[in-house]
Amino acid sequence: KKQEWAKLKDETTVSSDNEHVELAANIGTPDDVSGVLENGGEGIGLYRTEFLYMGKNQLPTEDEQFDAYSSVLKQMEDKPVVVRTLDIGGDKELDYLDLPDEMNPFLGFRAIRLCLERDDIFRTQLRALLRASVHGNLKIMFPMIATLDEFREAKAILTEEKENLTREGKEVADDIEVGIMVEIPATAVMAKQFAKEVDFFSIGTNDLIQYTMAADRMNERVSYLYQPYNPAILNLVNNVIEAAHTEGKWAGMCGEMAGDEIAIPILLGLGLDEFSMSSSSILPARTQILGLSKSEMSSFKDELLSMNTSEDVVAFVKEKAGLE
Ligand code: PEP
Ligand code: MG
Repeated sequence: KKQEWAKLKDETTVSSDNEHVELAANIGTPDDVSGVLENGGEGIGLYRTEFLYMGKNQLPTEDEQFDAYSSVLKQMEDKPVVVRTLDIGGDKELDYLDLPDEMNPFLGFRAIRLCLERDDIFRTQLRALLRASVHGNLKIMFPMIATLDEFREAKAILTEEKENLTREGKEVADDIEVGIMVEIPATAVMAKQFAKEVDFFSIGTNDLIQYTMAADRMNERVSYLYQPYNPAILNLVNNVIEAAHTEGKWAGMCGEMAGDEIAIPILLGLGLDEFSMSSSSILPARTQILGLSKSEMSSFKDELLSMNTSEDVVAFVKEKAGLE
């Protein structure tokens, strides 16, 4: 099997009816890029920048961040690299920020909420990203966006920093796409409105599932409710993809679900454009997609979206996609 996969390393990903989708990787550090290339990643769909901030006792400087982002972009050459701005809080703490304990950290002061209030931290990161943008194909993504106002505010700060850098005589790429993670149900419901303003969506199912089902992603006692294939999740995912395509934008997914063999046939049929997963899942996913017909999977869409339970979805997909 490994040998079969290896042959596909330098191929693009096409379904049996010749439709291309992008298989990208999730990374946490510049050192992860070699694994992406060895496994034939067509891009990076999620660079989690938290690790730059964690495991130390102070904020990373603009230059430290510039070095990390430039390194990733250079190694990936002209392949797309989606960098997510700081997503701290929730399960990820930063001792030196001295944030108060919260009753519900996953519903609290985290990610873009923190960045918009501590815009000193946010601006430093955006400057580092903008400066690095000349070294590759950078796309910037904001995490945990719940409202259009948050997106507009974040984008306005980005625009300001771009103007500041230009004024300082520093070069910045002028074609940087700016998108959001869709990981809050309100945003998935409002995808039509968001799609008019963002350049792309990346669906963060790890959080989207926990918020939609109201089941903590770390709590084993409610893990039975953490259901990726629940028709509620599929309908939200479909809404996001349809909204993107209506506005001529692209939609990806960077939650664990994107690399899952039962989810892949469904997502292919719903028209997902980019699947971002751990590097080790890329070649198995490419192999699977080569054997799937996108148009056939699309023909099951209405039936899948109107199913009653997660179990119904799984049984149906296993049969139609030839699993087991
Ligand atoms: C997600 O929520 O699906 C996601 C990719 O982000 P994280 O797992 O880092 O919260
Ligand atoms: Mg998330």
